Amino acid sequence: MRTVLLAAAAGLLAVPPAAAQTPSGWRAHDLARPRPPLVTPGGAAVLVPPPSDAVVLFDGAGVDAWRNADGEAAGWVVRGGAMEAVPGSGFVFTRQEFGDVQLHVEWAAPAPPRDSGQGRGNSGVFLMGSYELQVLDSYHNDTYPDGQAGAAYGQYPPLVNASLPPGTWQSYDIVFRRPRFDAGGVLLEPARMTAFQNGVLIQDNVVMWGPTNWLQANPYVAGAPRGPIALQDHGNPVRYRNIWVRPLPEGPPPLAPTLPAAVGVPSAVIDSLIGTYANGGTVMVISTTPAGLTLTLPEGRWQRLIPLSRTEFALGSTAATLTVAATTRGRPARLTFRMGDTVFDLVRVAGPSAGP
Ligand code: MG
Repeated sequence: MRTVLLAAAAGLLAVPPAAAQTPSGWRAHDLARPRPPLVTPGGAAVLVPPPSDAVVLFDGAGVDAWRNADGEAAGWVVRGGAMEAVPGSGFVFTRQEFGDVQLHVEWAAPAPPRDSGQGRGNSGVFLMGSYELQVLDSYHNDTYPDGQAGAAYGQYPPLVNASLPPGTWQSYDIVFRRPRFDAGGVLLEPARMTAFQNGVLIQDNVVMWGPTNWLQANPYVAGAPRGPIALQDHGNPVRYRNIWVRPLPEGPPPLAPTLPAAVGVPSAVIDSLIGTYANGGTVMVISTTPAGLTLTLPEGRWQRLIPLSRTEFALGSTAATLTVAATTRGRPARLTFRMGDTVFDLVRVAGPSAGP
């Protein structure tokens, strides 16, 4: 009571210690957080050309695809096929803007290393200019886990530390899904990020809490559906090469076509199909089961048969058909099974005897 009174007299409000106000429960940049396990990757980044549908952002020749914060020529230098951060020159931003992407980046921290912690080889890859996958020399260089190489900065430490020594080319392969807002600016879906460092999974579809930041956790604010990819100048001459991006489709996948409707077929026609059919060692059986008219395929696989006519049947969940190819005394004598370029002509080998 005395403490409270003293605090009140001093104009202070006594409050109990609060739980960390983050989704993880950890406070941002907490050095007490466990360090991700070390994993030695299979090797340094190999300079593989981009796929045919990629937008090439840097191929070693020039930085025309990039600008500075004022929209003017990027202040980074190109040296030896790499673009290098010039300390004090500021971030560089792609002139083209992107939303959902697959992004490939290769980077190398300065060698020999200088300084320590956040001061050693610090840069960053920013999706939509706002969501940082941290670039840092995290090879034998301790720092807070949500700020080491491969961290979704301030939010998610990497799953493992897959860092290679400074001076070595390392790769980031990132899949980023942008946040979605409704017309009124209400968040519908947060941003998500998946990332590999040197081929090792470091972020597994993590749900971003909002734009990344130092010290301050920023909330989502509805904005443009696309933004630039940015690389950070954090005062260290980090190098980049072989940067390319594949914008990802944002719409829903194409709808499957509507199947032809099942037609009513007299039960006598259904009954006439029941039997065993074979082509060499390939045996198929038509029977009635609780699921309905059923085709049992080799190795116990089975599919419901859906009549499309008296002589043609679709399989319930596979794009294949079964057609009556020949009839003897009102019963199918041969069937044709078609699936893609696979065709089986099947001969009836057993079943109810032919009718009179
Ligand atoms: Mg950074």
